[in-house]
Amino acid sequence: MASKNSAPAPTITARDEVIVSWLHRGYVIGLTFIIMLTLTSHHLTSKMIEQEIVGAEVASNLSNQITLISQIGRYSASYYISPEDLDLTLLENSVNNMKATLGQINVYINSGEEESAAKVALRKAMKDSLMLEKRLQTFIAESDDYLRLTKIPPSKNPQEAAREVLEIQKSLKKISDKPNQELIKLLQISLADHQENQLSEIKYLHDMQTILTYGIVFIIMLEAMFIFLPLVRKVEKSQKNLMRLALEDTLTGLKNRRAFTKDFDTYEKVLERKKEKFVLAICDLDKFKSVNDTYGHDVGELVLKHFANILKRTLRPTDIVARMGGEEFAILLTNTDEVVAFKVLDRLRQIVEKNPCPLKEVSEPKKLKFTTSIGFAEGPIENTKINIDEFMKLADLALYKAKEQGRNMVVNGRKID
Ligand code: GH3
Ligand code: MG
Ligand code: MG
Repeated sequence: MASKNSAPAPTITARDEVIVSWLHRGYVIGLTFIIMLTLTSHHLTSKMIEQEIVGAEVASNLSNQITLISQIGRYSASYYISPEDLDLTLLENSVNNMKATLGQINVYINSGEEESAAKVALRKAMKDSLMLEKRLQTFIAESDDYLRLTKIPPSKNPQEAAREVLEIQKSLKKISDKPNQELIKLLQISLADHQENQLSEIKYLHDMQTILTYGIVFIIMLEAMFIFLPLVRKVEKSQKNLMRLALEDTLTGLKNRRAFTKDFDTYEKVLERKKEKFVLAICDLDKFKSVNDTYGHDVGELVLKHFANILKRTLRPTDIVARMGGEEFAILLTNTDEVVAFKVLDRLRQIVEKNPCPLKEVSEPKKLKFTTSIGFAEGPIENTKINIDEFMKLADLALYKAKEQGRNMVVNGRKID
């Protein structure tokens, strides 16, 4: 008969320990991956931002060159037609700006830091394919030349003065209109090219970052499904196991003293609502010391287990059975009066007497006869608050009587004089 006293409880096996250890390893590996991917993703974001800033700076420098070339052309022509100091100052400023921005472009394309496709392409345009650097430097040198010539005071000698004018005209021609239109076109080409390269690089970084984000989410999901969930289950299992160990007697699988007291407290609360009688009994194996002394401790334990099995089989599932310690067991017969209890307990006593413990490993005797004495007390006692210790004392007293009167008997604690 299945009884609630023998409900199976989870046990932690060696296999569980191996699984938990692998889950721990998986957890650490998964976490390392997440950290690595997150750092890479962070690195890519920083790179994207840096790329955008550098790209914007270079694009701004290139378009500045375009504007400055036009300005130089305009100011130089304007100064030639009507020499005004403002035009000259503006012209000088534009030339200086051109030098500065070209310097910045050169710093960028010559810097040894990370080689991006955009930088490589711009360097090629500047130094090789379009020879932009050389052309810009020539333009700046010619602008400087024009500035230098305009600053020379005109010669008193008309022939010399005419030659000087011719020279200024020649210099002006080199930096205005047609030549600079061509330079502007080349700059526009490389600016567009640079922006396109820059965009495709940012797009590539963005795609990589999206892949990484999905990767992180994927690993977190894997961790949740295959590591966290099983780990939580194992923790639950070991918690149940601990609870079981805290409330179970490991030798017999019965409840222990702590569980019995707990269950009695719960039953006490039921009794506050439901008026019913109950019986608390204590069984103690007779002359058990001599079993140990004669056959050894192992046989003693076989007898304890055998007795526990008889208790489990004989009593109702609603009864509470526990090993209180040593060879002493407690039984709470719920909804039972002393008359029925006596019958039940005496039947139990007889079953024990008639069912010797089989000794598998020991050859002689094949079966060991043993008996039990039982003391019990009915509750509740009228006008008295239920107290487990009081009932234990009463049952104990009855047990003592049973031992005194020759053992292997059941005694009612309420009927002792
Ligand atoms: P009585 O009929 O008066 O109860 O005699 P007894 O020998 O059973 O009583 P006593 O209290 O003198 O001895 C109880 C013995 O129970 C002592 C100890 O050797 C044995 N015992 C207690 N716990 C265990 C246990 O877990 N395993 C085994 N094998 N023996 C136990
Ligand atoms: Mg005993
Ligand atoms: Mg004892």
